[in-house]
Amino acid sequence: MMLHEKTISELAAGLRAGEFSSVELTKHYLERIAAHNEALNAYVTVTEERALAQAAAADQRLVAGDATPLTGVPLAQKDIFCTNGVRTSCGSRMLDNFVAPYDATVIERLDGAGAVMLGKTNMDEFAMGSSNETSWYGPVRNPWNTELVPGGSSGGSAAALAARLCAAATGTDTGGSIRQPAALCGLTGLKPTYGRISRWGMIAFASSLDQAGPMTRTAEDAALMLQAMAGFDARDSTCAEEPVPDYSATLGEDIAGLKIGLPKEYFGEGLDPEVAKSVEAAVEEYKRLGCEVVEISLPNNHLAVPAYYVVAPAECSSNLARFDGVRFGHRCEDPKDLEDLYKRSRGEGFGAEVKRRILIGTYALSAGYYDAYYLKAQQVRHLISDDFKKAFEQVDVIMGPASPTTAFALGEKSDDPVQMYLSDIYTIAVNLAGLPGMSIPVAPAEGKPVGLQIIGNYFDETRLLNVAHRFQQATEWHKAGPSGY
Ligand code: GLN
Repeated sequence: MMLHEKTISELAAGLRAGEFSSVELTKHYLERIAAHNEALNAYVTVTEERALAQAAAADQRLVAGDATPLTGVPLAQKDIFCTNGVRTSCGSRMLDNFVAPYDATVIERLDGAGAVMLGKTNMDEFAMGSSNETSWYGPVRNPWNTELVPGGSSGGSAAALAARLCAAATGTDTGGSIRQPAALCGLTGLKPTYGRISRWGMIAFASSLDQAGPMTRTAEDAALMLQAMAGFDARDSTCAEEPVPDYSATLGEDIAGLKIGLPKEYFGEGLDPEVAKSVEAAVEEYKRLGCEVVEISLPNNHLAVPAYYVVAPAECSSNLARFDGVRFGHRCEDPKDLEDLYKRSRGEGFGAEVKRRILIGTYALSAGYYDAYYLKAQQVRHLISDDFKKAFEQVDVIMGPASPTTAFALGEKSDDPVQMYLSDIYTIAVNLAGLPGMSIPVAPAEGKPVGLQIIGNYFDETRLLNVAHRFQQATEWHKAGPSGY
């Protein structure tokens, strides 16, 4: 088996057994990046020197016997996480010149576990998008078919992992940005419970929704990544002070008798019939594993996208106010006066989608509209959380599609924001409620990957990971990769 075909757990075993070193493994990945990245545009920065230094240090740790399962394993980091001494662009011209002076907690923890950072991955500008077409660095292409989008906003991480240009990657998910690209690229993606992972040093889009998480080939690997990333951090006041369980310990436990809820709202109009077939076939597999399936209802799900497109822009308009060409970000040439400096710096630094969101957000927050839009959206958010609360009185997990369609063509939705926003119709409610959600690959539709979404109750990542793992023990879909890599 080629090195890049191995999962994290296989790599960890090989590294410990001395079958190969982290330096060899890292060089192998760097060569693959050199060969394939230009066509895919998945990495915006490759940190070769840093990677080789980390790999050499990891090799020493392995010899010394103080390695974690991630020690020496090459990862890709979404360019939304601040990385000390390395450009952190967030996919924006605004931060094209920004070299972070510190590491995000996520980076600090993965570094601390001994992982190797290969580079920073492309993303939709400030994580706003579902196709990775809003990046200042140009679109990312889907390795399964380069005419198609990889999904977004963690599209660079997804494409890099699908093309085996890293062993695993980080992503962030505000409305679906881990689960939807995982679905479109045939990967395992986990958005943990809000507060499970520190947001410190992760550039904020919508602070009450943003959550980091792993993108991996298997649920087993997701457990290893989450183990390193999760936990309390005093520097993020919304980070939960919940104990971190051993996520790998319960993998493989029997799931017979598990109650799965299928929301009828997730299987209605708008769902591609081919995607529906693949998701239904996956549910049949769960029945064979002894699970019980019941129909449930999430009656307010149709309000999730509209509520999100008030809450997320409102928060982003406030978070992005700091990028003014003075404190942070791109500064225009020869400003006439202060107002000109603000206007032109922001005008030049932000792309069209980001500007659209800032305008919507400031509008929704302005006097006279606040009650009508922002307050209303917050009320709807409550109703959506209550729907889930009721559902979890009845079932253990909820399943459905992660995305209404498979990967679509580049350019197909980029002129139609509403169509683009509907890509997240099954994922957004999960962020509004703060719940954990996963996407795992199931049977492809017309040769294109399909993701099954599994939603759990608060801090029930352990169960989600096991439910995903049991499926992966019984099936082979997660092993499929695009040809040519
Ligand atoms: N696609 C959604 C948006 O554009 C979600 C993005 C995300 O999760 N970061 O806002």
